[in-house]
Amino acid sequence: MIEVEVRQFGCLKDNFGVIIHHPESGCTAAIDVPEAAPYLEVLKETGWNLTDILITHHHWDHVAGLTELVEKTGAVVTGPERSRQHLSGLDKFVEDGDDILVGPIAVKAIGTPGHTLDHITWWFKEAGIAHTGDTLFALGCGRLFEGDAEMMWASLSHLANTLPPETTIYCGHEYTLSNAQFALTIDPNNQALQERTKRIEALREVGRPTLPTSMAAELSTNPFLRVCDAEVQKSLNMLNAEPADIFAEIRRRKDNF
Ligand SMILES: [Zn+2]
Repeated sequence: MIEVEVRQFGCLKDNFGVIIHHPESGCTAAIDVPEAAPYLEVLKETGWNLTDILITHHHWDHVAGLTELVEKTGAVVTGPERSRQHLSGLDKFVEDGDDILVGPIAVKAIGTPGHTLDHITWWFKEAGIAHTGDTLFALGCGRLFEGDAEMMWASLSHLANTLPPETTIYCGHEYTLSNAQFALTIDPNNQALQERTKRIEALREVGRPTLPTSMAAELSTNPFLRVCDAEVQKSLNMLNAEPADIFAEIRRRKDNF
């Protein structure tokens, strides 16, 4: 187990900025850069020296501050090979399954296409942390802009089968309250979901973030990961249907929620 310190902070309207710092080596990694200023503020306050920037996907609200942050820190930028054409300013490229090093810390790139085709989930295995970008949200998942439902279901079930339940999950957006309201329409009798919704409402009422979450919490309450659950299937009138079809139906309903 590797000990790291993590800072999470708001960017733009509802994006998250995340910085992971390894005190022993001094290595510090930013995940995505919606805007540079909040990152520079955290770096100034902590005295951390940004060494790496890891990009999850090419959407503007994840890279808008990249050029400025690189200019001011000289950090090395690693992102998806599939973004090579979409993005400038990347130094290194990864594909599904590649391992990189942030100082002495091994970080695995897990290809999770669906929201976009290039999407990478970054897994700091030994630190017990994953950043799922716009693939897996707290109680939700990203919209299907470039991939289809089958592709996104494959990505989400891959995460569910790969990341241990105790993994701490960071993601790209604070969408949890509306995700919870939607989840209750799909999984109304889920007591863990009802209780989690109350905690989310209390946090949002005082303006606090609902992230990070854990894989265990998502497995028990996120409807997009629960397509194989009989209660969810019954509520959709899709008992024993194909998981990808059930996922597609939940995604369709969320798009119209
Ligand atoms: Zn996105």
